[in-house]
Amino acid sequence: MRIGFIGLGIMGKPMAKNLLKAGHTLEVYDIVEAQVKELVAAGAAAASSPKDVAARNDLIITMLPNSPHVKKAVLGEGGVIEGAKPGSVLVDMSSIAPLASLEVAAELAKKGIEMLDAPVSGGEPKAIDGTLAIMVGGKEAVFEKVKDVLLKMGASAVLCGDIGAGNVTKLANQIIVALNIAAMSEAFVLATKAGVDPERVFNAIKGGLAGSTVLNAKAPMVLEGNYKPGFRIELHIKDLQNALDTAHETGTPILLTSQVMEIMQALKVDGKQSDDHGGIIQFYEKLAGVKVRKGGAK
Ligand code: NAD
Repeated sequence: MRIGFIGLGIMGKPMAKNLLKAGHTLEVYDIVEAQVKELVAAGAAAASSPKDVAARNDLIITMLPNSPHVKKAVLGEGGVIEGAKPGSVLVDMSSIAPLASLEVAAELAKKGIEMLDAPVSGGEPKAIDGTLAIMVGGKEAVFEKVKDVLLKMGASAVLCGDIGAGNVTKLANQIIVALNIAAMSEAFVLATKAGVDPERVFNAIKGGLAGSTVLNAKAPMVLEGNYKPGFRIELHIKDLQNALDTAHETGTPILLTSQVMEIMQALKVDGKQSDDHGGIIQFYEKLAGVKVRKGGAK
């Protein structure tokens, strides 16, 4: 299967490299030339546009920031739709609005091009390891056709439903992650102000019911005051906006999500939009007038 890959950022680059390592031939495109050069050095061929990628490959993978970028690269001038042959498959692994996945898939279907939405969870470390969790929407037959390729980038690939279901699942994932980080932040600020070392709190509770993958990943970072991304607050704002839009479209009140969204908006106003989402704790630290650090209040 000839594979094309569009979008070589924090996530796309290591994902594409894993496909190369697995022995696939790969043709790549990004609007930033330096990203393309790095992949060419790793053994990929360079294409000059998404149309170019689509014309020469049967499977086209996109890993782009948000819905407008995917629409532009797939449906815009020089886009995938202009080059792709009937029967070829687009797998969009970006985290975008589920409604946008439906719109893009409907346009592609008019030309006989199949599509799956297949966003991921796990961040850059798991993209590098090839152990992402991949959540997929689309036809089962199409999923079965590309599943082996997906499993070169992920430890799991689960078909969640029809097209759009992958991104609905990703929104659920992002709500749970955001609310967990906010809960951890409230708890650590409270413990610190009450005079208990938050590192001891973390060590005492991580094996109990409050323990989680989020806690294990983020607590060690925030206890050092380390907010290097990882997953930027501005990308999480994008995901929560898509969650709120989807909630309003479907008539689903999601109260806690809207609160964490406003916390992230406040951090953005404070210039912290490029911090890791673990940096949510800075909002609570400012309210309570304390810094959460190993050993207790700072
Ligand atoms: P990124 O901003 O690092 O990379 C996006 C890449 O797309 C960039 O290289 C950019 O130049 C390229 N691009 C933008 N528009 C383009 C176009 N029209 N044609 C070709 N290339 C174009 O973002 P990222 O962190 O790699 O995230 C990509 C997606 O994965 C996002 O939807 C994000 O929410 C999701 N995601 C990210 C993480 C993470 O930890 N970073 C984890 C899970 C999911």
